[in-house]
This record gives sequence, structure tokens and C-alpha cells, in this order.
Amino acid sequence: MAAVNTLYVFYAVLIGGAVGSFLNLSIDRLPAGLSLITPASKCDGCQRQIPFRHLVPVASFLWLRGQCQNCHARIPLRTALIEGATMGLFGLVVWHYGLSMTSVVLVSFAALFLVVAFIDLERGLILNNIVLLGTLASFLLFPFGPVGETHGIGQAYLWSLAGGLTGFAALLILYVSFPGGIGAGDVKLAGLIGTALGLQLLLTGLLIAFAAGSLIAVFLLTSRLRTRKDALPFGPFLVGGALVVNLGLCDYNKAHGLPSQPPRAPRFAPWYSLPLGRRNHGDPDEHRRYLDLQHGLHALPLYSG
Ligand SMILES: [Zn+2]
Repeated sequence: MAAVNTLYVFYAVLIGGAVGSFLNLSIDRLPAGLSLITPASKCDGCQRQIPFRHLVPVASFLWLRGQCQNCHARIPLRTALIEGATMGLFGLVVWHYGLSMTSVVLVSFAALFLVVAFIDLERGLILNNIVLLGTLASFLLFPFGPVGETHGIGQAYLWSLAGGLTGFAALLILYVSFPGGIGAGDVKLAGLIGTALGLQLLLTGLLIAFAAGSLIAVFLLTSRLRTRKDALPFGPFLVGGALVVNLGLCDYNKAHGLPSQPPRAPRFAPWYSLPLGRRNHGDPDEHRRYLDLQHGLHALPLYSG
């Protein structure tokens, strides 16, 4: 079984590389309103079409030493960063959640978050279309994610809705009370992130985002890399916090000696699990023990409910 899992992780990393290339394309073209399908990738310097063998994620960047072979224009380091990050995140998710619908949902969120964060970093822009479509998609996918595993579908939709409204409202209050602090895009992005995380995880995610944001801001100011007048985009911090909690990197259950993936409640096989074959449909006793333990453990608002 362990060997099979390692194989799945290996495939996930390969797929992550291909998806990463596509995310780079999206980050370049979506803000300009260009098509994601045509034309094929070209060098920014000499406009020559990039040969297929130079499109291998990360490896091509290292092999070409970050330069176009034809005109020696620099290839942005970001292309390799995105490809590497996507490979790592895809591998991590599948390592953690195996071959499951939960993994599909989590890698979709990760891909969406990376595109939003890097467009914000590079252009100080959070695109309304991406946020709107992303929020809708996150809401529809939410019950199949990690939180939905322990709750029924109806309850999961409520958590997602409550998370989206809370995220939006919390940042709206900040936006109104401290003009010039965060952007209107950040308010909408917080709505998206709340929808994707659900109310339980959103609070931890926001806490991480604000803590990291303030630390980096203090660092940039004291080291005089930035002045008070420079804007520091907050979107990447929101996304970073969301990634940390959503990928189980900050795993409340694990830290308290509980299985990081809760035992499944017994239920009928949903239609989407059929092609994946042998799915664990849960042991009623194990599930009840898990719930008892979790109820007795802590009265923290996180993960209860
Ligand atoms: Zn070139």
C-alpha cells in the first residue's frame, strides 16, 4: 500500500508540473484579457515560439539557466517558482489525502489561490472575474473537501456560506475603518477564501495572514526596503494563510493525537467514488469513538460543530 501511495504522489507531482505551466500562462494572460489557449507560449524578448522540450517544468529553467536560448532574454524566476510550488502542493495534498475527491478539491483551491496571489504580487490587482467564479466554484466543491468529510452535505454548505460572509464582512469593516489600508479586492478575496475554507478554518487562516502580514511589514519598514508610502499587497498573505490551514500544514487534529483524516461516517458510496474503487466506507464504532473524543477534548470553536 505504501508503494502505491508513493506512486500516486509521484504522479501528482508530475501533474502539478503541467498544471504549474498553465498557471504561469494564466498569470501572464488573464490580467490582459488574453486567451489561455492560443497562441502558444513565446519568448517575451524575441517573440520566438518556445520549443516543446524547453517547457519541462523547473528542469528547463535550470537547464537554460533562466535565459532564452535564442536571444538570452531573462525568463522570469516566477515561472520556475510557480511550477515548483504547484508540484510541491499537489504532491503534499495527495500524500496527505491519498487518491480522493478531497485531494481533487484541495489541489483546485491551491491552483486558484496561486494565480490570485501572483497576479496581486505582480500587478497589485485582484481580478473580479476570477474571484467571482472562484467563489462559486469553491462553494460547489466545498462539501467534497476535508470539512465536508466529517459533516453532511447540507451542513457543509452552511459552513461554506457562513465562512464566505464572515470573511467578506470582517475585511469590509477593516476596509471602511482604515481607509488606504487594504484594497477593495482584498475584501472580495476574503469572501472567496472564507467560502473555500468554511467558517471553522477561516478564523485560523485570517489569523495567520494578519500575523505574517504585520511581521513582513515591520521587517520591510525597519530594514528600509520599503517606506510607509509603498503599498504592500495583502492578497498573498490571505492566500498564504488559507493554503497553510487548508493543506493540513497546521493540523489541529494531528497536534492533539487524533487521526489527521477523521474516520468516515458510514454511508453509501457516492457516485464519484465508484471509478476510484475500494473506498473506505467507515467503521461506525471508530467514527463514534472519534466524535466522543473530539467533543470531550476541547470546547474551541475550531473543528467543533
Ligand atoms: Zn528570446
